[in-house]
Amino acid sequence: MSELRFDGKVVLITGAGAGLGKCYALEFAKRGASVVVNDLGSTPGGVGSSAKVADQVVDEIRKLGGTAVANYDSVEFGEKLVNTALQNFGRIDIVINNAGILRDRSFMRMSDDEWDLVNKIHLRGSYSVTKAAWNHMKTQNYGRIIMTSSASGLYGNYGQSNYSAAKMGLIGFANTLKLEGKKYNISVNTIAPNALTRLTEGLIPPEVGKDLKIEYIMPLVIYLCHESCLETGGVFEVSGGHVCKLRWERTKGAVLREEGKPMLPEDIKKNWEQVVDFSEREVLETIGDSVMAGVSAVQRVQAGD
Ligand code: NAD
Repeated sequence: MSELRFDGKVVLITGAGAGLGKCYALEFAKRGASVVVNDLGSTPGGVGSSAKVADQVVDEIRKLGGTAVANYDSVEFGEKLVNTALQNFGRIDIVINNAGILRDRSFMRMSDDEWDLVNKIHLRGSYSVTKAAWNHMKTQNYGRIIMTSSASGLYGNYGQSNYSAAKMGLIGFANTLKLEGKKYNISVNTIAPNALTRLTEGLIPPEVGKDLKIEYIMPLVIYLCHESCLETGGVFEVSGGHVCKLRWERTKGAVLREEGKPMLPEDIKKNWEQVVDFSEREVLETIGDSVMAGVSAVQRVQAGD
């Protein structure tokens, strides 16, 4: 098996001073990439800052013979992060949106600040860094972007309405970027990892957590960012050595309208079981497929089917 190498490639990893991001940074450097190690050095709740956090990872990479520079800005200021890549290495090939914080609280008690801060770092931060890199990738006709979502967004998690919303927002964001990036060879994939880090200690029981290693998340990220990987728009759950891809599906549903008659809430109630019955399921790939379902319903009603 030939090694997946990144010689000549420049990768920017946000929140690379600890946890998952640090693991990616060390591996990319080992495989020949020039790495921008971004980290604000804040607490898991997003308080404070420390240059030490990114510096330590840069030192580690350099000691191992790799190439890396630090950036200490918050992901809110994407231009600054991307400029660090451009000024030091002259290009930007790969962006891993990874930095993150938590401000967990039940929705009833959640403050506007807690909602805003979490969305600002995860969703707007990923926007800001991606936006700053996008035109460079477009011009060079090459780019690989990773969004970091969460099972909390996919399925919900008590006390994480702010985080769930931001993490699901990233999937919507990637859904459109995959379309806009395709003709420029920019791929955009999303991962929903689960691993023991300072963000999850206390949430995962230690006996399980010890085997949910960050090293089991890293290989998927490395592969998705390689030039040989043409996957785009994918959403992957990854944890403990298991990797899988997600997709939307919907019920076959029913057309609950007849030509010349009003469509009533009572029609919905009467046919509810059919509406929610997944025994016949459909997988749609594009917004066009979705729109066509409505168009075909109109045609069926007009034809009296
Ligand atoms: P971590 O706390 O170990 O690492 C996150 C890093 O991001 C920290 O070093 C922190 O200083 C940095 N950071 C925070 N705010 C920043 C900002 N504004 N700008 C730049 N850097 C900032 O956490 P982790 O578990 O490695 O999480 C990495 C990503 O994975 C996060 O987006 C998290 O939501 C996501 N995630 C993790 C898990 C898990 O099981 N660990 C599960 C789902 C999603």
